[in-house]
Amino acid sequence: MKNEEIMENYPKYIMNTYSRQPIAISHGKGVKVWDNNGKEYLDFFAGIAVNNLGHAHQNILKALKEQSEKIIHCSNIYYNENQLELAKLLTQLIPNTKVFFANSGAEANEGAIKLARKYTKKTEIISAKNSFHGRTLAAVTATGQLKYSEPFKPLPSGFKHVKFGDLDELKETINSETAAIILEVIQGEGGVVTGDESYFKEVEKICKENNILLILDEVQTGFGRCGKMFASELFDLKPDITTVAKGIAGGFPMGAIIANEKVAEGFQPGDHGTTFGGTPLACAVAFASINTIITENLIENSQKLGNYFKTELLKLKDKYNFIKDVRGYGLMIGVKLATNCSEIVDKARERGFLINCTANNVIRLVPPLIIKKEDIDIFISMIDEVFQEIN
Ligand SMILES: *Cc1c(COP(=O)(O)O)cnc(C)c1O
Repeated sequence: MKNEEIMENYPKYIMNTYSRQPIAISHGKGVKVWDNNGKEYLDFFAGIAVNNLGHAHQNILKALKEQSEKIIHCSNIYYNENQLELAKLLTQLIPNTKVFFANSGAEANEGAIKLARKYTKKTEIISAKNSFHGRTLAAVTATGQLKYSEPFKPLPSGFKHVKFGDLDELKETINSETAAIILEVIQGEGGVVTGDESYFKEVEKICKENNILLILDEVQTGFGRCGKMFASELFDLKPDITTVAKGIAGGFPMGAIIANEKVAEGFQPGDHGTTFGGTPLACAVAFASINTIITENLIENSQKLGNYFKTELLKLKDKYNFIKDVRGYGLMIGVKLATNCSEIVDKARERGFLINCTANNVIRLVPPLIIKKEDIDIFISMIDEVFQEIN
C-alpha cells in the first residue's frame, strides 16, 4: 500500500487520537527510515527518543530472534533468568536498588506513585508544571499540563503542581502528607526544558529533611540520551525511585521502576503486578540494548555529538533572530523558536528528515545514539536552508 491509501483508511478503523505526520513508515536501517512510497529519511526523532540504537541493529535482532525461539512470555508467577540478568545490570547502573518491570512509561510512573504512597504511608504527590508523566489516570494527573487531564475528570486526588525550578513554591506546597516529589531532570514533552543543578540539589535536601521520596522520571532522558547513562548523573542526584521506559529496549516496549532497596520493601506480594511486565523476550532485548550502549561507547557519542550538534545550532541562532534558545544535554536537544515549528517539521520531512515539534515552538532533536558527525552536518545544512526559506 502507498502512504495515501494507508492514511485514507486509518479513520475508518483506528481511533483519532494522534495528529500524525502524513507518511507511513515502512522500514528502517541505522539512522535511516523509509516510507511506504519508498522515500528515504534521516531519523532525528527515533520514535520519540526510543530507538537509541537506530533501526534494525544486529544486536537487537539477534536477541529478538534467539529469545523468541526459546520463549516469549511465561507469566510473573514463575522465575526467569532474563529478568534476573537485566535487573542485575540495571542495579549496577543505579546501585543499591531493586527493580519492578512494567511495559511503558506511564505504567512505571503509576507503579512509582503506588510504591511511594505504600512506603511512606502518606498520600500527596507533587509534580512540576509543564511536566509530562504519561496518559493513564494517575500519570496524567501528575502531568503538569492541564490540557491532558481536564477532559477526564474526576481525576485521582492527592496531586499538586508547582513551578519547575521554584523552590519557594515547593517549600510552601509540601506538608505532612507529602509522599513524593516527581520530576523530570529535563522536561521532554514540555519543550526540552532543563532544570538546574542547584534546584535539584535543594529538592533532594528538602526531600531528605521531610521524609519525602524523590522520584525522577527518566522515561525520556535515560539510557544515554543526555550524554550520561541517566540524566540524574548530570547533577549527581540520588533519587529514591527512578522510572524508565522509552529507550530501555531499543524499541521493544518495556518500562521499569528502579527503587532504592529500602523503598523497594514497600511492595510486598499482592501489592502490584502486571501480566506482561518483564517478559523473557523484553528482558533479553533490553539487556542487549543496554549492553550495546555500554560496549559501543554510545554514551560518549551522545555527549560528544550532542555538544557538536548544539555548537552548530548555536551558530544558526546567531544567524536567525527567530531562534530563541538552543538547549539540552547529549542528544536531547531543543531549539526554541519565536513561532510555531510545525511548518519547519513539514519542510524538513519533505527534504527527507524526521524531526519533531513539541510545546508548539520547540524543535525536539532526539536522534539515535549511533548517529555520526556526517549526519549532523547534512542536517545542519538542510535546516539552515529551511530557516532561510521561512526567514
Ligand atoms: C513518554 C513519557 C512518559 C510516558 O511514557 P509512555 O511509554 O508513553 O507511557 C512518561 N514520562 C516521560 C518523561 C515521557 O517522556
